[in-house]
Amino acid sequence: MKIIPNKYKEEPYWHKWLYFVYSHGNQLSVVFLRRLAALARDYNQIMSGIYGYRPKEESQRLWDADLKANGGKPSGRVAEPGTSWHEHHLAVDLSGEFWKNISMSQWMNKTRLKQPLNAYGLILPLNNIDYPRYPEWWHLQPIETAIGIDKDKRRDFLDVDDLVYGMNSVSVSQFQTAMKTIGLYTGAIDGRPGPLTRAAASKIMPLLHQILGTDYQTAKEIIEASQASPQFWIERLKTISYLEDYTMNIVNIGNCETLEK
Ligand SMILES: [Zn+2]
Repeated sequence: MKIIPNKYKEEPYWHKWLYFVYSHGNQLSVVFLRRLAALARDYNQIMSGIYGYRPKEESQRLWDADLKANGGKPSGRVAEPGTSWHEHHLAVDLSGEFWKNISMSQWMNKTRLKQPLNAYGLILPLNNIDYPRYPEWWHLQPIETAIGIDKDKRRDFLDVDDLVYGMNSVSVSQFQTAMKTIGLYTGAIDGRPGPLTRAAASKIMPLLHQILGTDYQTAKEIIEASQASPQFWIERLKTISYLEDYTMNIVNIGNCETLEK
């Protein structure tokens, strides 16, 4: 895990504080989301209208438009497709006067590792000192990206266990399959979050707490988190030493299957 959890200020209920322009925008490292939310919480100011994750095709469109507008040459203001931290789930663009004022007065005139933001595990890399050519008051990244990572290494920067929130390409069926693989679910793979699916989610909850030090409060949160990257969860759960005993103890869940139909 490269984006280290619980090392800086975090707010787990980030949904309360962050509102993205695009629904896919929240596909960011969850630790990064929590850090941003902690910042918003401490200023008691919601971050609304923000941009986060940007798919590569979108970067390509921006890049092409920039080339077109500048007679075939890049202006330097738009990241080359494949290199933007937005594509790698590790950048967010703030919006609005409140944050602009804070950024201009407290962050922009300091180098990336001398900003008050650092206490939140965040940096404003394109500040007036480090990047005077095209400074961006709105663009924040996790502090782990401050060390200057080669453009071609950025794609591999996030580890599989740097959970990216909000990837909704995985369905309830896939969650059920994942839970079945580790023995927490014995119902049908039917894509319906019935009692057995919810039971699996609540069984997995204390395990997740233990492994990750997280604090999911509801089965819904667990399901959402699990759907975000099932392969990660499966691999992680395989490493729990007592899972076999645990699984044996809950084998009887199968008896409840009729309830689900
Ligand atoms: Zn940006």
